[in-house]
Amino acid sequence: MESEKIHCLIIGSGPAGYTAAIYAARANMKPVLYQGIQPGGQLTITTEVENYPGYANGVQGPEMMVDFEKQAARMGADIRFGLATKVDFSAPPFKVWIDEDKLVEADAVIIATGASAKWLGLESEERLNGFGVSACAVCDGFFFRGKEVAIVGAGDTAAEEALYLSKLCSTVHMFIRREEMRASKVMQERVQRTPNIKVYWNTNTDEILGENKVESVRVKNVKTGDLQTIPISGFFVAIGHQPNSDIFKGWLDMDEAGYLKTIPGTSKTNIEGVFAAGDVQDKIYRQAVTAAGSGCMAALDAERYLSAKGLV
Ligand code: NDP
Repeated sequence: MESEKIHCLIIGSGPAGYTAAIYAARANMKPVLYQGIQPGGQLTITTEVENYPGYANGVQGPEMMVDFEKQAARMGADIRFGLATKVDFSAPPFKVWIDEDKLVEADAVIIATGASAKWLGLESEERLNGFGVSACAVCDGFFFRGKEVAIVGAGDTAAEEALYLSKLCSTVHMFIRREEMRASKVMQERVQRTPNIKVYWNTNTDEILGENKVESVRVKNVKTGDLQTIPISGFFVAIGHQPNSDIFKGWLDMDEAGYLKTIPGTSKTNIEGVFAAGDVQDKIYRQAVTAAGSGCMAALDAERYLSAKGLV
């Protein structure tokens, strides 16, 4: 198996990973960054970003991530396509396997693997995934232009995606399991002001129906027990995310949901020399700008660690 020894390994290519790479490269740590299965991270499946400082007129998420990558590359970060599949953090240098066929040994590791979409867990949802079921309205909404679709979820993501779909689709049926939305007030108001978004309160998805493609959805009112079947062509899931931390189980401390634990005010994990940044360790803020900020912290913490050991 091919192997390589480096100073600083960064796993993940969202705002946290690329910011860590910019700082680490400028500090002469010669960082190597592996992008994972979704180069650019979650922002590559979003549209307009209006709240990232520095873009006075807003920016498209994918375009912003290309800017991040270019900046990290210009500073000298070695950016590579590949997925970290296994780690051994028993002692430095830390071992990380890439795509199961390459071993990277690093003096310091910065984990910025982010989070991924959650699913309802229905058999029909899995069977029809890619055949009308999607967790990304921005990626797949286009396929349902002029058609009726449904979305489940009541947070900011669901509100944002319902609004996005309302511009493409004839009707958006929005299923909310409680009698209130978790989304911010401004987003709730926008949803409720949109005539072609039909909100169903206290409503759970019972089953998505269709043989080879989504044809309808059966929902249940949790208060009355009433079932209703609604014809739709697309079914979107927007019920939150889970941290991409599976490969670190048994090595790093994490909470019950799998978010990595860091020492408050730092990016340090329970293993000295292993740092975490971005959504994989943040279930509260989860913003591009907070992820970028924590990526900066991780690179600075890693630099202090490596220079204290005389390694950079
Ligand atoms: P959230 O965790 O905020 O919301 C998830 C939603 O899905 C909740 O309303 C939850 O319902 C619902 N849900 C969870 N499981 C199920 C289920 N099995 N069946 C039905 N509904 C379910 O996730 P988001 O992805 O929406 O947002 C994550 C964070 O990112 C938040 O902090 C949000 O504010 C932020 N964000 C900000 C944006 C912006 O500022 N422009 C845009 C998008 C996200 P319940 O409420 O009942 O728990």
